[in-house]
Amino acid sequence: MKIIAANLKANHTPRSIITYCNDLQTRLGFEMIQDKLEIIVFPNQASLVDNNYSNFYIGAQNAYPVKNGAFTGEIGLEVLESLHIKHIMIGHSERRMYFGEDNTAILQKYNFFMQENMRIMFCIGEDSNVTNIKDFLARQLDRIDISYPLLTVAYEPVWSIGSGKIPDINDIAQVVDILRSFGVQKVLYGGSVNIANVKEICSITDGVLVGGASLNSGDFANIVCQIRQ
Ligand code: PEP
Repeated sequence: MKIIAANLKANHTPRSIITYCNDLQTRLGFEMIQDKLEIIVFPNQASLVDNNYSNFYIGAQNAYPVKNGAFTGEIGLEVLESLHIKHIMIGHSERRMYFGEDNTAILQKYNFFMQENMRIMFCIGEDSNVTNIKDFLARQLDRIDISYPLLTVAYEPVWSIGSGKIPDINDIAQVVDILRSFGVQKVLYGGSVNIANVKEICSITDGVLVGGASLNSGDFANIVCQIRQ
């Protein structure tokens, strides 16, 4: 089974996400979810909608590791529960880079949402200045409970995100092997995935995390269809 996820980042609005989701629901066949493909859409926090589409799941790009409380600008578990959301993304490089999330903060989120039995999309990846990728990824996974059955790791080299450049397919395969040697069961690739490269990437991974190429529901559905065939 392959996982195809859309990271919409700070794009879309509470209104446009409804159109996006309704359109995606229509374009994807009912057999998508569960046994063949797992499709997840991660809207921004203000555009989160009820996880009640039969052809894909809604996930959260981020949340604070509390139920609720005095944490201005954040959402907690209570919001996710109210929308029946079971998927959460943790550790995206943009959270690390722009919002100062270090390994300690990320670990705290991981442990909290693991205890709540959320399905975790844990993002890791090196930038172009890193020479020992294996050591770097090992550090990003330090103290993360890899045996958690609801964990998916998205390998996203930072230099590839939004750049239109992707690593050589053999290099991706090597990293997938490294992550499997660490005990990771489900490994996705993310970074400039598009309709032209998705099939080859999915042949050596458990799926993909798509950013820019997922912003339009028709484009994202076409990417999914590449894997469906
Ligand atoms: C991402 O940031 O998660 C991502 C995959 O972005 P893009 O596809 O735009 O490179």
